[in-house]
Amino acid sequence: MGYQKLSFNLPTDYTDEDLRTKIAKKIRLSEFIYNIETKSLDARNKGNIHWQINVEVFAKSIKGFSPKPAKLNIPYKKRSQKVLVVGSGPAGFFSAYVLQKAGFQTTIIEQGKEVIARASAIKNFESTGQFDVLANYATGEGGAGTFSDGKLTARSKHASQEKQFVLDSYIEAGAPEEIAYLSHPHLGSDNLITLVKKLRERFQEIGGKIEFETALEDIVVKNGKVVEAKTSKGVIVADYYFVAPGHSSYSTYRMLINRGVKFNNKNFAIGSRVEHPQSLINKAQWGRETLPSVSSAEYRLTYNSSDSLSVYSFCMCPGGIIVPSTSVAGSSVVNGMSYFSRSGQFANSACVVAVDLKDLLQKEVSPLESLDWIDQLEQSFFKKTNSYKIPACSIFDFIKEKESLPLTATSYPLGLEPTVLWEMFPSKLSEAMRSGLVDFSRKMKGFEEGQIMGLESKTSSPIQVLRDDSLRCFGFDNLYVIGEGSGHSGGIISSAVDGIKVAESLL
Ligand SMILES: Cc1cc2nc3c(=O)[nH]c(=O)nc-3n(C[C@H](O)[C@H](O)[C@H](O)COP(=O)(O)OP(=O)(O)OC[C@H]3O[C@@H](n4cnc5c(N)ncnc54)[C@H](O)[C@@H]3O)c2cc1C
Repeated sequence: MGYQKLSFNLPTDYTDEDLRTKIAKKIRLSEFIYNIETKSLDARNKGNIHWQINVEVFAKSIKGFSPKPAKLNIPYKKRSQKVLVVGSGPAGFFSAYVLQKAGFQTTIIEQGKEVIARASAIKNFESTGQFDVLANYATGEGGAGTFSDGKLTARSKHASQEKQFVLDSYIEAGAPEEIAYLSHPHLGSDNLITLVKKLRERFQEIGGKIEFETALEDIVVKNGKVVEAKTSKGVIVADYYFVAPGHSSYSTYRMLINRGVKFNNKNFAIGSRVEHPQSLINKAQWGRETLPSVSSAEYRLTYNSSDSLSVYSFCMCPGGIIVPSTSVAGSSVVNGMSYFSRSGQFANSACVVAVDLKDLLQKEVSPLESLDWIDQLEQSFFKKTNSYKIPACSIFDFIKEKESLPLTATSYPLGLEPTVLWEMFPSKLSEAMRSGLVDFSRKMKGFEEGQIMGLESKTSSPIQVLRDDSLRCFGFDNLYVIGEGSGHSGGIISSAVDGIKVAESLL
């Protein structure tokens, strides 16, 4: 069977039949099969918004061979070694899945609840304000990204075997096939809940074990080797320890640092969420409020200037909801999520400033002090309203530094409190945010008409674990810190890929 690559521009509401007809016309054949390789919306010219589609076409009479990318090689053999994986987020889960497939005896412990119980606890939190420390947006089966927009973009555009393995695993568990080729694929919370459960069942079918509501509390180290893990349900002894705690679990970070695991500070980003009616964003991006067969427009904005810290939009959720995503009681953090259809009334994204804490505070800070600084900021946002209501103002007021406009409707479920938001950040930070918001309002029509709210402090880890050449924690024989909590990845795909790469390193 021969192979050929073709590219087409098609209207946003094209059908599979339209694409087949285009291919048939181009190759002058009626017998062929095709596979969409990439698909991205080109909205540069508002008068001609279309899909750009690259396809691979296979037919007997075409000459040429498909350069099929190699699949992830997981060499199986029966092994007696035990691996304990802490955390069931993308990093923990996918490292455990690969190790189990390779023949290790793998157990995941997850401090939070399983995904269905977690979903109902989150629902309860959003309707009553009662926070459950074992089941929230950051804690529980599937990790932080389970109740998210499920964007599957990774900073690296490189289609690695590890990334392909993650996407294939999601598709095998029932994810829409479009995630394999869309330039900005997403899963949505509704799909993620089912996928997380199905993948866990698959892991258990091949012999993996998972224990919920079981927290790693301490490790016992002898001569650079972890000899046991103390958990909330007793001691667990393993040959290898993979710790994938995400970057919200500051108690785990503190325990690891106290046990000699070396971390360095790294740059991170901090700011607030902005929200607009989705129709306003559609109009700004497409020149009209609706586009046939496309639910909602996205945006990505950046502001760089020599006079200010860099500011950028992050984790944009079209048709999404702003959510309370703290992992601890008495603390306030926001993030964004959406359902697969992205059909909600609002669009939100983080508006964050890139921060080097040493520069911001004008002094050296240790990794533990970095965590303390973020903790205190999160607590100050909670104390401001003494609840999970979030401080908010209009973007216009933030820019003018003047309280003038009343707050309007929001997707945030626990309510907004009118606040002089710019005074809640260190002045260098809010000055940068202001410059960024002015610039974004210049670039996107109507941007200043939105609202800005809450504290977005968990875009990425403020600290990074020191690794040796085998990706182990520096100075440790059998301890690995993986995923977002390691500071070596950020986001669902890159954290899953980090977990797999570290598992491969052990293999
Ligand atoms: C609301 C929201 C929306 C997001 N949207 C997106 C998105 O659209 N796209 C994207 O790429 N990223 C998104 N992210 C970020 C993404 O979820 C994370 O980057 C990713 O989940 C990190 O994976 P991880 O496995 O390293 O850690 P996590 O997913 O954070 O998982 C860590 C797990 O470890 C558990 N744990 C922690 N400490 C312990 C302990 N001591 N003992 C036992 N268990 C422990 C936690 O309960 C948690 O379940 C979002 C995050 C949130 C909160």
